[in-house]
Amino acid sequence: MTMPRQESSPSDEISSDPATDLEIRLLSDCFINRALRKADGNILGDRIIKVTFKNALQPSAIEVIRKQILSFNPCISHYRIEEAPRAFYLPGSLTIKSMYQNLIQKHLIEGLDYSLYQKQLQKMNIKFTSLGSDVCPSCFSYKQHRHTRINRNCIKCQEYTAHTNFYRQARFYYHIDRKKKQSSTDAYLTADLQKFLLLPVLANHTQIAARTKRLICFNQTFVPLGRATMAVPNVCILWHEGEAGRGDSEIASAFIEGLKSYNGIEHITLWLDNHAGQNKNWTLYNAMAHIINTNIVSLKKLTLKYLTPSHTFMTANPVHAAIERKIRISSNLEVFQDLENIISKSGRNTHVRSLKYTNFYKWEKRPPIDERTANSDHLTTARVIQFVRGESKIYWKTDFTAEKFHCSEFLLKHRGARARKGILGAVLTQPRGINLVKREEIITKLGYLMRKRSFKFWTNISAKIGIVNLAVADDD
Ligand SMILES: [Zn+2]
Ligand SMILES: [Zn+2]
Repeated sequence: MTMPRQESSPSDEISSDPATDLEIRLLSDCFINRALRKADGNILGDRIIKVTFKNALQPSAIEVIRKQILSFNPCISHYRIEEAPRAFYLPGSLTIKSMYQNLIQKHLIEGLDYSLYQKQLQKMNIKFTSLGSDVCPSCFSYKQHRHTRINRNCIKCQEYTAHTNFYRQARFYYHIDRKKKQSSTDAYLTADLQKFLLLPVLANHTQIAARTKRLICFNQTFVPLGRATMAVPNVCILWHEGEAGRGDSEIASAFIEGLKSYNGIEHITLWLDNHAGQNKNWTLYNAMAHIINTNIVSLKKLTLKYLTPSHTFMTANPVHAAIERKIRISSNLEVFQDLENIISKSGRNTHVRSLKYTNFYKWEKRPPIDERTANSDHLTTARVIQFVRGESKIYWKTDFTAEKFHCSEFLLKHRGARARKGILGAVLTQPRGINLVKREEIITKLGYLMRKRSFKFWTNISAKIGIVNLAVADDD
């Protein structure tokens, strides 16, 4: 995956026409960093280049804006939405207003106002990690077409009706589970991977931090449908890209750690986003079929239920919002432990567990069963999946209202026997590491803004040449 392509270099468009009435200060990335390193925001005396624009927002002006937006290092989302184009995200600590002000302090662009700047962000498919920014592609495409009321003869309207029935049904059953009593044996939870968190967070230097490629941290959160209690707490499983990536094997391993945290509970129902890369794949099912047959967890039955993509507001969302809020008002978060501390203080009964690379198993992507019985339709149409202790089967329903489950052999016998002995397979033998250039950049650009004792954390992070930057590409 590459970043949004830059069509041309800003300098391609520059005219030297002295009759211009518009001036643009074009700053190279290197210059911006140098200027910001002075940390006083004083950029007067920059190189000033005169540009002629016949109309507002000529391509060269757009290129200046694009370059400025890209300098904030937008990252890809943690999942792929097949129905929607790939979106890029900026951390919730930034605002469009602060970015716009940053631009107009340095560049005088005729015709540019706040709304045009906002539009450019939209065009580049850049969103903020604050909640509610995801738009449902099906609902969006319905709203774009010509019927304002459902027309039964129109295919688009028919699709939309089916879509609304689909998500309302899931929502209905979610609320039924929400009303059920959590107990020491039965828990109803939601689980979701928080949009990326970045380290370090430097409260008084947000702009320079935002312009540096930082360490990506992950938080796979488990939250009860009701209120978090001592018996059924919120559980945040944390790790960072220096230890492991965010492929389906890593997510499945985080699920295992989450389930281990609910010791004593015999039946867990997990409500999940319907995202294939994250929550609905053979890797995760493989891991779940194994774990339920071990004594590592107390589970006798595990049920996974799926909400419709983009209609997935669930209890994990306010927990993530509370974490983002805490981070926004925090002073510096310089090392991973600072992040752990702030997350554990983000809500009552919130437990944090951090993972090292040795906690990550190498799960197989394909189910270990005969291809003839591997019905890939489970993945696309299943709305409920279930695993039962002592069984090597996978159970599924394609409709919440169905009384009976379908079932299929899933684990090979010898694998089931190994699982019962608590053998889950191989773990990672070394940390994933981050790109050496990125680590050096963090240390040289941001190191002097941090406490001395934070240095050890940064110099200890495993770093290698040529490691893919998780910010712009998936690692699996
Ligand atoms: Zn929708
Ligand atoms: Zn229509």
